[in-house]
Amino acid sequence: ATPMSVMVGVGKAAELGMLVRQGDALQKASDLTTVVLDKTGTITEGKPRVTAIYCTGAFSKHQVVTTAGALESHSEHPLAEAVLEKAKGLELPYVRDFQAETGRGVAGCINNQQTLLGNEALMAAHDVKTHELSEQAVEIAGQGQTVIYLSIGGELAGVMGISDPVRADSKAAIERLHQLGLKVMMLTGDNPETAAAVASQVGIDDWRAQVLPADKERYVRELQEQGEKVGMTGDGINDAPALARADVGMAIGAGADVAIEAADITLMRSSLHGLSDAIELSRATMKNIR
Ligand code: ADP
Ligand code: MG
Repeated sequence: ATPMSVMVGVGKAAELGMLVRQGDALQKASDLTTVVLDKTGTITEGKPRVTAIYCTGAFSKHQVVTTAGALESHSEHPLAEAVLEKAKGLELPYVRDFQAETGRGVAGCINNQQTLLGNEALMAAHDVKTHELSEQAVEIAGQGQTVIYLSIGGELAGVMGISDPVRADSKAAIERLHQLGLKVMMLTGDNPETAAAVASQVGIDDWRAQVLPADKERYVRELQEQGEKVGMTGDGINDAPALARADVGMAIGAGADVAIEAADITLMRSSLHGLSDAIELSRATMKNIR
């Protein structure tokens, strides 16, 4: 390869809003056969809003909102902002021993009671039964929204629906990737119903839900073992291992620092069009070299 054309490519990339951090990334991007996308904050805006709150008999909506808000005030997850927006202006209880459970939710001790907020997997891991609000949960998930449960002292207290709109240009950007001959996959820690709704909205070829960070990395590795050249795009801490494993990792610029450090390219525009731009530019650059 002539370093000169690669340097020109890197410069053009910068003009298109892509920061190439790894010199050979632009060369590798021309051979990609599959791209793996994270859902939350990558395909979606990552600016979620609480749309529904339900509580079980023994708890009030107020208690659900303030308890959830107290826990989320310690979290940096995009979902936390949505919950905090709902709890704005309310007095929040004190949280001891806060813990984030990656890909599942958050936990802490409030008024001497173990309190959990997160997905079905988090509840299952702590033996919290969710059936009392299962009808509400099915309704929320069916609308493509994220279902978040709250438990207090081992008992289900409430369920919340959180909606995170798909980015306006995600569908068009994925169409462009298809035109470039790439397969487009989605991996998410979210539940299968929400994943299915988003996947069909934007035209994803294949997807996996309830995926933990280590599993995202393994999925990328399995695709590579099948002979695929894999590009990965994500924004979160949970995407970092997969971004590092991929042949070309492309982080959303507005995402977590860990994701950006693990990736080869940073997409400054927070749009999936950056992916197609990178691949097109890469193919053009390599044509000049070969
Ligand atoms: P994604 O892969 O779509 O970016 P994550 O792996 O970050 O999603 O999170 C997976 C799931 O874990 C979320 O859909 C949510 O159900 C739960 N979760 C994670 N962090 C939190 C949090 N701070 N508050 C509530 N739920 C959370
Ligand atoms: Mg994400």
